[in-house]
Amino acid sequence: MTTTTSTPTNHAGKQLTGIGVGRGSAVGKVVKLAPPVRPPAHEAAAANLEQAQALVKSSFDFVATNLRSRAAQAESTVAAVLEATSLMAQDPGLIADVIRRMGTGVGPATAVDQAVEGFCSILEMSGGYMAERVTDLRDVRDRIVAQVLGQQPPGLPTMTEPSVVVAADLAPADTATLDLDHVVAIVTELGGPTSHTAIIAAQLDLPCIVRVAGALELSDGDEIAVDAAHGAVTVDPDDSLREAIISRAKARAALKESGGGAGKTKDGRGVQLLANVGKVEDAVKAAKEDVEGVGLFRTEVLFLERKTAPTVAEQTKSYTEVFQAFGDRKVVIRTLDAGADKPLAFAPSEEEENPALGVRGLRMDKRFPQLLDDQLTAIAAAAKATGAKVWVMAPMVSTVHEAAAFEQRVKSHGLPVGGIMIEVPAAALRGPHLIEKVDFFSIGTNDLTQYAMATDRMAGELAELLDPWQPAVLDLIALAGAAGQAADKPVGVCGEAARDPLLALVLVGLGISSLSMAPNGVPAVRYALARTTYAQCQEMAAAARAAIDAAAARAAVEALVDPEVLMAL
Ligand code: PEP
Ligand code: MG
Repeated sequence: MTTTTSTPTNHAGKQLTGIGVGRGSAVGKVVKLAPPVRPPAHEAAAANLEQAQALVKSSFDFVATNLRSRAAQAESTVAAVLEATSLMAQDPGLIADVIRRMGTGVGPATAVDQAVEGFCSILEMSGGYMAERVTDLRDVRDRIVAQVLGQQPPGLPTMTEPSVVVAADLAPADTATLDLDHVVAIVTELGGPTSHTAIIAAQLDLPCIVRVAGALELSDGDEIAVDAAHGAVTVDPDDSLREAIISRAKARAALKESGGGAGKTKDGRGVQLLANVGKVEDAVKAAKEDVEGVGLFRTEVLFLERKTAPTVAEQTKSYTEVFQAFGDRKVVIRTLDAGADKPLAFAPSEEEENPALGVRGLRMDKRFPQLLDDQLTAIAAAAKATGAKVWVMAPMVSTVHEAAAFEQRVKSHGLPVGGIMIEVPAAALRGPHLIEKVDFFSIGTNDLTQYAMATDRMAGELAELLDPWQPAVLDLIALAGAAGQAADKPVGVCGEAARDPLLALVLVGLGISSLSMAPNGVPAVRYALARTTYAQCQEMAAAARAAIDAAAARAAVEALVDPEVLMAL
């Protein structure tokens, strides 16, 4: 580790912009990531090829083991990221490529560099989520190159004061070892809203801005204000900005200390605050949080690595553990949502031009009816064994027939409550017809936005279109909400939109009665609800829908919300 030495840049007040992750803010001194060790220019071929190849192989092995052991010490989100990165360092195709290059006379460190770059170009061409993994792969490269050359791996310097980590992008290994006593924010030039840096920053509740052009021109020691809510980085902030940012950070800390309990508006209208869960261990962890149950149990997450379909007994065991953890709190379990971005080996899709528009979610049932029957059998067995309040819902429902057929399957397994997700605009538009067939709706705003705006949810470049504040998306939610209210049946939201406290107020105004999100999002939503009446939520919903675009919708709501709420968010 090195300490920071360079002199601050003199561009006071200069503002850089990017995409904010969350709404945090902080002021701190820039600390940049030490540059990685690069292969020497014109590196000579290995004098002893066999020995050098053995060194390269053992370097791959060393880096993989090191990442795995860091994973073992990290908490679950970070651990998963580190494990995924360690797999890159064990990729037989990559290692073989390096060995092959060395055989043609390329020096060992250069061979590692070239082989990784080849893999990076393939990932970059895939775009979206895959392209955002390039940072992780390059970090693996830098660690292996350092190991091959017998030098220190890349990393962050020691910090002694409130610091903002500034980097091209952070590798999982860097984010996993952040000094949380000093790091107050993260700014990256690359990455995207779904890159590992963004995911981990959200998990750690650190203010973070990604895709900040010019971030690397900042110097170690520059004081910067980071405002994730507005995606703004200000160099050498003046006193008023510094104070505003610090008061906001304090208001956020106060929010964290604010009371818990059931969600309700200022005038006492109940809005259930629920958790989104995937893996059993995450569910067990979420059950310890102050949440009113589960609004979305993504069962496919349990089976993403499986080559064969899980047996009824295996499924029953997993569901029982989750139901038990939540005791008498409601658990909304979603049947397998396979296909598109979540392929399952035991439910293979045929080659599709547009997988997101293809056979995914409930549509898989036509090809693999046994999967749904087995799953419902397992859910029913787990519900019976635990006496849990279990609601079952299907993903990707488009028509009344699909809704009715699913409901019938749920009931035929003795499960009392069946519902559907509203993720397809057609389903929202036909809400009054669909709600007749089922007991509840749960709106998946992630997919509903992707389909309403014709924008691949993995396309970081199109983030603006993927914003659930888009008035067109709000109109669709309003239709589904109104259908539920007219039929006196609950309509929840379980997409990312539920986690945005201001948008949550709008959703309540649109007739939504439960909000489900990652548990760490619950306190802010609870806080915003407790300071807003139902009538105000309705007023905000009308203002947002009347706006011409997503930014105007949010601005209209910001103008109506209690300023204390705004300050704390
Ligand atoms: C959604 O689409 O909003 C949703 C909750 O489902 P998933 O994100 O799992 O597709
Ligand atoms: Mg979905």
